[in-house]
Amino acid sequence: MSIYAEGTLKERVKKEIQDTHARLAVAKATEKLQNGRLNAAMEMGNWEEWRERGSAIRSHTIAHLDYYLEQFTSNVEKQGGNVYFAKDAEEALAYALNISKSVNGKHAVKSKSMVTEEIKLNEALNEIGVETVETDLGEYILQLAGEHPSHLLGPAVHKTKEQVAELFSKEGGKEIPPDLQELVGFARSAIREKFLQADIGITGCNFAIAEEGAVSLLTNEGNARMVTTLPDTHIVFMGMERIVPTWEDFEVVINLLPRAGTGQKISSGVSILKPVQPHENDGPKQMHVIILDNGRSKQLGDPDFQEILNCIRCGACINVCPVYRHVGGHSYGSVYNGPIGAVLTPLLNEDSKQASELSYASSLCGACHEACPVRIPLHDMLVKLRHRNVENGDVPALEKLAFNMYGKTFSSPALYNSATKAGLLMQKPFTKDGHFKESTPFMKGWTNSREFPEVQKSFRERWKESLAHQEGQHE
Ligand code: SF4
Repeated sequence: MSIYAEGTLKERVKKEIQDTHARLAVAKATEKLQNGRLNAAMEMGNWEEWRERGSAIRSHTIAHLDYYLEQFTSNVEKQGGNVYFAKDAEEALAYALNISKSVNGKHAVKSKSMVTEEIKLNEALNEIGVETVETDLGEYILQLAGEHPSHLLGPAVHKTKEQVAELFSKEGGKEIPPDLQELVGFARSAIREKFLQADIGITGCNFAIAEEGAVSLLTNEGNARMVTTLPDTHIVFMGMERIVPTWEDFEVVINLLPRAGTGQKISSGVSILKPVQPHENDGPKQMHVIILDNGRSKQLGDPDFQEILNCIRCGACINVCPVYRHVGGHSYGSVYNGPIGAVLTPLLNEDSKQASELSYASSLCGACHEACPVRIPLHDMLVKLRHRNVENGDVPALEKLAFNMYGKTFSSPALYNSATKAGLLMQKPFTKDGHFKESTPFMKGWTNSREFPEVQKSFRERWKESLAHQEGQHE
C-alpha cells in the first residue's frame, strides 16, 4: 500500500494548511523548480520534440514491457546478478529480508527510493534487527522526524532550516545552528559512519537499461555511490515500468528527467551499475534486483490508464499543480503526491476509499499535462477516475442528488428557464453588498477565504443583452 493516510482528504488538508511555514517553504521551492524547468526547456529550443521522443520511447517500452524485462533479466543474470519478480509488497519484503538474513546483515544504508517507501521496507528491516539509515539528506531529515516524503524529488521540501536544526541538535546531543553549511556538515559526518558500518546497500532505480543489464541512478548528493560501492550486498528496488530498451533511449530520458524536474542539464551524479565481476576487486559481492509489480501490471492494456506507466518520476507535474502548492504533499496521505500521486495512488490501491478520493485533489486545469516531459494526460485520467468513483457509487448522496437535478434542469429549456429565475430570487437572503455572505450554507469552503459575487442576471439575459449590443455596434 502506497498510502499512509489517516482521516479524509478534507481533514488532512484542513490540518496541513494551518502550517504556514510549510506552505511558504513549498511555494518557494516549487516556484524555483518550475522556473528551472521553463529555463531548461527554453535553452534546448526544441523541447516539444524532446517531449515527443520521450513519450514515444516510454509508450513503446510499456507496450513491450514483458520483452524488455526478460531481456534485462537475462543480461543481469549472465553477469552474475540476481533478479526477482515480486507480485506485491509482501513478496518483495520477504525476498529482501531473506537476503538480509542470509548475509547476517546488521546495518543497511539506503539512497532515495520511492518504491521502498511504497512497501515500507525500513520498518520491515528494523523489525528483524537491521538498522536502516537513509543517506539522502532530505530522507535523513524525514527519518529523524518520523515523517513521510512530501515531494517526489525534494522529500523534505516542507521543512525550514530552523526545524532541521532542531532535529539535528536533538540527534547530535548538541546545539546545531540553522546554518546550511553546519547542517550539511552534521549530516555528512553522521551518515559517513553509517556508510563504513554498512553490510547492505539499498537503492532504487531511475531506469534499467535492458540491452545492457544495468541499472542507473541519478543523484545530486553522491550518497548513492557510497551506498552501491561500500557494502558487500547491493539490493536494488525497481518498479516494473522503470526500464528503457537501449542506451540511445536512456540518453533521451536522462536529458528529460533533470531538466523537467529541477532545471538541471544533467543530475550531478549518473551511476550505471552492474553486477561486479570476479576479476574486479572493489564493489559489492552480490547484486539483487527486485522488480515490483504491486498493482502496476493491472494498468497494462487499459486504454484509460496504461500511459501512467510512462511516468519517469521527474516531479514536474507536482511543481506546477496549484492544489499541491496550496495544500502540500502530506495532505495526499500517500507516498506519491501531487497530480502523479492523485492518479497513481488510486490505481495502485484499487480497494482503498482513501486512495480513490485523491482524484478530487485537482482543479483539472491541465498544468500537469503541459509540464509533463512525456506528455501523460493526467487531467484526463483524473476525470476518468472520478467517473469510476461515480460508477462504484462512491459519492455522497447529496452530491448524487444535486447532479441528478442539474442534469434534468439542463436538459429541459423550460425547466432551465424557471430554475435560473428562481435561483436569482433564492440567493437574496444569502447575499450582501453584491457578494455571498460567509455564512452561506454549502459555500463556506469558498466564502471562508474568498468572495463569491452575487449573480445579477441569468445567462440568457446576459446573452440577449450581448447580442443586442453587438447588433447595435453593426448598425
Ligand atoms: S507524470 Fe509526468 S510530470 Fe509527473 S512525475 Fe511523471 S513524468 Fe514527471
